Amino acid sequence: MSKRDYYDVLRVSRTASDQEIKSAYRRLAVRYHPDKNPNDASAEEKFKEAAEAYSVLADGEQRRRYDRFGHAGVATGGGPSWGAPGFGGIEDILGDLFGFGDVFGGARAGTRRSAAQRGADLRYDLEITLEEAYGGMSAQLRIPRLETCETCKGNGAAPGTQPETCHTCGGTGQVRYQQGFFSVARTCHACSGAGRTIKTPCSECRGIGRIEREKQMEVKIPAGVETGSRLRVQGEGEAGTQGGPPGDLYVVIHLAEHEQFERQGSNIYAAVPITFAQAALGAEIFVKTLEGEEKVKIPMGTQTGTVFRLKAKGMPVLGGRGRGDLFVSVSVVTPTSLTREQRRLLEQLAAVETKDLEDKGLVDKVRDIFG
Ligand SMILES: [Zn+2]
Ligand SMILES: [Zn+2]
Repeated sequence: MSKRDYYDVLRVSRTASDQEIKSAYRRLAVRYHPDKNPNDASAEEKFKEAAEAYSVLADGEQRRRYDRFGHAGVATGGGPSWGAPGFGGIEDILGDLFGFGDVFGGARAGTRRSAAQRGADLRYDLEITLEEAYGGMSAQLRIPRLETCETCKGNGAAPGTQPETCHTCGGTGQVRYQQGFFSVARTCHACSGAGRTIKTPCSECRGIGRIEREKQMEVKIPAGVETGSRLRVQGEGEAGTQGGPPGDLYVVIHLAEHEQFERQGSNIYAAVPITFAQAALGAEIFVKTLEGEEKVKIPMGTQTGTVFRLKAKGMPVLGGRGRGDLFVSVSVVTPTSLTREQRRLLEQLAAVETKDLEDKGLVDKVRDIFG
């Protein structure tokens, strides 16, 4: 099955603003979210399709690539840890996008508010060279993030003491008020919604339970990544609170421009100059590739703009087998300065060429046109 156009998926025009794309995605996400359509495979498919379209069109750089190159220009899918981040609950989507957290807060008052919270996901933008993307690499990252405080094991209380359940809210973090028919939940002011109070705060983290640290880690970047590729490193985001699990780290790849090669998907393109004599007589030239040099046979009578394809000398396919090709476009370069010897030979050539054209009657025709 061929992939649908991302703009069609979100039902927006190609000139849609970021805000229009956001609202379009929100509409679809709410309608097709798996929470609302249990056991409905087609809804889930639609939901995933919309999420994928949104992940590309909401990202300026990805959207530009998609506009230029279509699906081939953006990295989606691939290995298990690649692609769009997994989707969370429906509140997470709306909360992330629109800051709706509080609207839904009431619905889960007393349940999730005071329970353990998962740590935030982190994004790390990594710029690498085309050569590094070609061979794959291991990158040394330094990531500032919140880690669980070792002194208090994350509960925020000084060693030897324990946090106490908040008396005002009974540990739920919320206080309910009856207003006519409605019951309104408010964040508990005594504990700021944490559901517990700390009498003697841990001196290391001042009762917060987490500390900002710079974490050093090595991340393997697989061969074939391109700008926009996302590597998910599970559990390396920020620490959770009150025993919640850590978030994930997403390493987002940016490829630096290369002075010789242009890349499109797994193919790479290079322009190579040749002399008039090489073009006219034919020649063997050596072309730089990403792993050394390759001999290319220029046949007699080659014109500027002729493209030679070097099979399997392009980029490796991410998470797959095989390689793209290297396309070499040659251009015949007119010399801008000549040695005495070159000038003499070219003048001889010019004399013969003029005579050649006269014999064919071409020069007279040209004179007729311009004379
Ligand atoms: Zn602490
Ligand atoms: Zn409280």
